[in-house]
Amino acid sequence: MKKDQLFTRRRILLVGATAAAGAAGAAGLLAPGDDEPAGGAAGPAAGAPARSARKASAYRLQPLTGYGPPSAAPDRVPVRREPLMSLSGRGRSMVLTFDDGPDPRYTPQILDTLGRYDVRAMFFVCGEMAVDHQDLLARMADEGHVVGNHTWSHPLLTTLSRRRIRSEMTRTSDVIETGYGERPRWFRAPYGAWNRAAFQLGSELGMEPLAWTVDTLDWTTPGTRSIVDRVREGAAPGVVILSHDAGGDRTQSVKALRRYLPQLLDSGYQITVPRRQHT
Ligand SMILES: [Zn+2]
Repeated sequence: MKKDQLFTRRRILLVGATAAAGAAGAAGLLAPGDDEPAGGAAGPAAGAPARSARKASAYRLQPLTGYGPPSAAPDRVPVRREPLMSLSGRGRSMVLTFDDGPDPRYTPQILDTLGRYDVRAMFFVCGEMAVDHQDLLARMADEGHVVGNHTWSHPLLTTLSRRRIRSEMTRTSDVIETGYGERPRWFRAPYGAWNRAAFQLGSELGMEPLAWTVDTLDWTTPGTRSIVDRVREGAAPGVVILSHDAGGDRTQSVKALRRYLPQLLDSGYQITVPRRQHT
């Protein structure tokens, strides 16, 4: 049984590998090596999360991270000055992201739809939601989705002390590691409100900052059709779509996905999850 799952996940990864992490605007495209500090490709970074600390029970890790033998160096990410806003890949690939969950009312329906079309997405979860719904984190892992850190309680980071920001981020990564089986490699600031501390701490914790290209504005409950239209009008190679699977009534978000996902696939888009170059 587990063997089948592993096989499935590796296959998923091979598909997902077509999306390489990249950045919009001044941050430029991420190419292999671009995100390594000058002269620093070898050796572990101080304060980077240690691979050896991973739990033996997290059997899912190998296929998720692996092409060939695991890298000896721990994850290291640059301290950016702006978040990534798009993800370039080969061909017409797009990334779907769902924030603020997991929520047992909506997240399972979103996972069902993604599974029906055999595509993977990113879920930026909040620790205070994730801690009560570890089963959903485990399902995301089993089905090949990528879980990112969206803080513990969804605060406006720009109003918090560095110490509070660190706590919000660290506690959430801990909960994700427990439920998902791996520490998150991506971070998204609530409300898209970034500051220097968020970039620095995210880097320390081994996470890349990911924003989005297209906001569906689903959190305003504008109607299913409006959400579908925003996705359709914003669709382009490398685009990152922002939606929500929690934080209010997300019925429209669930319904919209059922409509726009097959449309995107029919239009020739590959829905992928990013893979960091140095993993
Ligand atoms: Zn949010």
